[in-house]
Amino acid sequence: MQNDVILEVHNLHITLDFDGEDIPVVQGIDFELSAGKVLALVGESGCGKSVTSQALLRLLPRELRITSGQINFQAADGQAPVDFVSLAKDGKKIREIRGNQIAMIFQEPMSSFSVLHTIGNQIGEVIRLHLKASKAEARALTVELLDKVGIPDPARAVDQYPYEFSGGMRQRGMIAKALACNPSVLIADEPTTALDVTIQAQVLELLRRLKADDGMSMIFITHDLGVVAQIADDVAIMYMGRIVEKGPVGEIFGNPQHPYTVSLLNAIPRLGDLSARRELASIRGSVPSLFERPPGCAFHPRCDSFMEKLCDAQPPPLTRLSPIHEVRCFLHQAAEKEAAL
Ligand code: SF4
Repeated sequence: MQNDVILEVHNLHITLDFDGEDIPVVQGIDFELSAGKVLALVGESGCGKSVTSQALLRLLPRELRITSGQINFQAADGQAPVDFVSLAKDGKKIREIRGNQIAMIFQEPMSSFSVLHTIGNQIGEVIRLHLKASKAEARALTVELLDKVGIPDPARAVDQYPYEFSGGMRQRGMIAKALACNPSVLIADEPTTALDVTIQAQVLELLRRLKADDGMSMIFITHDLGVVAQIADDVAIMYMGRIVEKGPVGEIFGNPQHPYTVSLLNAIPRLGDLSARRELASIRGSVPSLFERPPGCAFHPRCDSFMEKLCDAQPPPLTRLSPIHEVRCFLHQAAEKEAAL
């Protein structure tokens, strides 16, 4: 692993066990997360981004299985990197890392909180379990965390129940819970999708502050390229279990090369378009079912640049357009060959 890389995924394959048949869900993805950076995994529903994020912490449901690949994590203690794939799924080592060194926040905060206990008890429990703190210390730290994530009157909020929090407050509470053990990596799975735009902006601002002030590294899962532009350093575009384009946000937004990325960017509403009452661009068709994966490039039934007998014959290989920009599309394979001559 390179010096500043904290998490490295290499050739990861995940399959779904369906009646004894292995259905590919994630097919050989590679990415790296550098310390203090935000990497966004982007795509429509069903492209494999949430499955990938669950696999990172070995949290896949029973029917999904990592079949090969590596997930290497470099802990802050300077010890040799650990490959999560080699660890027992619910073993002691991965349980120590989950929550402690890598934490996760979800789209729906109520999935992280029990309705029966106060917010303070639930965050405090994490602190006591992982940091071996006393009850009083855990409570004091919980109040500090609630304050840090911008919960008003945290000394009072610590004794409230989740149902007494608004949607935005619950999301902040979940972020506080994730931060309880001061993790070095935060995995955020569509954390702003269920929020209205005002609260979404506040939560994004909070996450940006965590990155700037605490040097937090993040993997941000989203279908929304508008959100990516606001928070991420690097972006990997996923389609049907493959990364089809990857690079720094400025490069991918300014110079998109995969037809799917171009379509996603064209689908972002722009203020001028709305005032001119122009129709919003949309991507033709929808992501096929895992059971009906198109042959060749899985995007080909939706692609305006489709080339018969090429795009539907075999999956396109990875093309490195520059040291920072990779794409999987036959349109660029020819360009790479020409450049090499
Ligand atoms: Fe379109 Fe072919 Fe490129 Fe796939 S490989 S995105 S079908 S041009």
